[in-house]
Amino acid sequence: MVQLKINNINVEVKEGTSILDAARAAQVNIPTLCKHPDVDPSAGCGLCIVKVGGRIMRSCSTPATEGMEIITDDAELKQIRKTVLKLILSNHPNDCLNCTRSGSCELQDMTAQMGISENEIIKMVPPLPKDETTKCIVLDPAKCIVCGRCVNICQKVQNVWALSYLNRGFSTKITGANDTPLDRSPCIKCGQCAAHCPTGAITDYDNTQKVFDLLSNKEYTTVVQIAPAVRVALGEEFGFDFGENLTGKIYAALRRLGFSKVFDTNFGADLTIIEEASEFVKRFKANDHLPMFTSCCPAWVDYMEKYYPENIPNLSSCKSPHQMVGAVAKTYWAEKAGIDASKIKVVSVMPCTAKKWEIERDETMRSSGYKDVDEVITTRELAKMIKKAGIDFKHLKEEQADNPLGEYSGAATIFGVTGGVMTAALRTAYFYITGSELETLNFHAIEGLDAVKVAEIDINGISVRIAVVNGVGNVGPVMEQINTALAEKKDLPFHFVEVMACPGGCIAGGGQPRVMGATFDKPWGINDEIRKLRSKGLNCEDACAQNRLSHKNESIKKLYDTYLGKPGDEKAHHLLHTKYEKRDLYKA
Ligand code: SF4
Ligand code: SF4
Ligand code: SF4
Repeated sequence: MVQLKINNINVEVKEGTSILDAARAAQVNIPTLCKHPDVDPSAGCGLCIVKVGGRIMRSCSTPATEGMEIITDDAELKQIRKTVLKLILSNHPNDCLNCTRSGSCELQDMTAQMGISENEIIKMVPPLPKDETTKCIVLDPAKCIVCGRCVNICQKVQNVWALSYLNRGFSTKITGANDTPLDRSPCIKCGQCAAHCPTGAITDYDNTQKVFDLLSNKEYTTVVQIAPAVRVALGEEFGFDFGENLTGKIYAALRRLGFSKVFDTNFGADLTIIEEASEFVKRFKANDHLPMFTSCCPAWVDYMEKYYPENIPNLSSCKSPHQMVGAVAKTYWAEKAGIDASKIKVVSVMPCTAKKWEIERDETMRSSGYKDVDEVITTRELAKMIKKAGIDFKHLKEEQADNPLGEYSGAATIFGVTGGVMTAALRTAYFYITGSELETLNFHAIEGLDAVKVAEIDINGISVRIAVVNGVGNVGPVMEQINTALAEKKDLPFHFVEVMACPGGCIAGGGQPRVMGATFDKPWGINDEIRKLRSKGLNCEDACAQNRLSHKNESIKKLYDTYLGKPGDEKAHHLLHTKYEKRDLYKA
């Protein structure tokens, strides 16, 4: 530990802590635009300057040392910070009235905080084109302040290396790796760059108008589904606490927007578990293509196809839950409702930007003869639609989903949290192997935000080794262990592996709200405190659910009894499973 003084307050912090973090520990906020708790600062914005023994230094990149005396705010520092911010603004379009980020923009907020209403520095905004090539995220270099958060997240946290800096000095800009458009870079569309960008420079590809158009087209019956993680995050856009579960209000809002039926992706999560647990039990008994990897995260699937194509046969062939709901809505439900499938449109509300890519990936995503899912909007886009439509979300009364595609178990709802898919699958796999239910439905070893969580589960004297990878950037060492064992024909370290591309799981997906952090010292957007609160919201729903097991979902049982046959049978396989292909890193 080291002892120092910040604004004359005695502070004790671990050696190596930056001055910025030491100040935050003492409840002193130093302005910054490039520092985010999930990544190292690039020291690029220059706003976090402080005085150390009279010398001006950047607090984000200067470690606190014994005996330091630091001043974080005085007239001179204020003036320098203002000038630095004005320089940033001189290179920025200041297009707030037309910017999707207005109201949740750290640059806008900082400008207001510093009281800048005029800028004497000559404005020079280079005409830089937007990159919309992925149709999942949009990179608008004109609004970029070159803080480097996105590059750090993409390279150092996600280990994708799809973004990089181009040029130097005033001409520096962010582009796809090798100066390619993003769809020709290794980008996996996870949206973590958008989740961490302080400005409107990286945002979701906006499909809200397409959905409004569908809703006003009376030729179609437009139905909607919401992913597990949406319910514990949307409220943040309307002033609710972090992690508050607002499922019933969201259903009500969706009806007011004009959707004909409100279904729930959680139904698809239960269906995924039936197919995936059956697939795992079959593979495990036959020692066939183990370990099996979960496949419900499209960014992880994309990563596997690009970085580990030799392991593609190890991916579960199950479609992700919202694709399953789409396929079932356009077959089973269409028949029940007496509606021609060609007249049904399915919209998914997802915490994820990669889902926009998933619905287009190949012909298995149209196994009913029509696209399983027609449009994907993120949680942020749903908030935008609710606001545009003038719906008083805060005061809506809770409503129920429409059945049968609205019933779900507690196991389904925890799909949104790292470790949740594995927990849900093990509950059902245990039942399939033993014919009895687990005594304890939680596996504490795979809960929480650790990078890789492992456990050994005893099922009737057989040991099943599992791993949960929290964030795709942590998958490398696990793959190395697995591929070494496979190459040397040794005992596998794991039989079943869950991977979620976004740290924390879907609750922290690239399409989730970006509002002010949970506490004073946290920035806008995502951080571990918010991850924990959103996870708690889903875990609580599971803990209190009357049914916590996917195989006890009555509507799912009926679906198999009356329509699909047995899990993995021809019809179920045709509608609910997909295939994968090797993808080049630098090809659209
Ligand atoms: S990025 Fe922020 S400051 Fe820039 S135009 Fe958008 S809202 Fe305004
Ligand atoms: S979406 Fe993900 S992979 Fe693509 S550039 Fe952003 S952080 Fe990198
Ligand atoms: S795109 Fe956003 S996160 Fe990336 S450098 Fe620019 S402002 Fe920062």
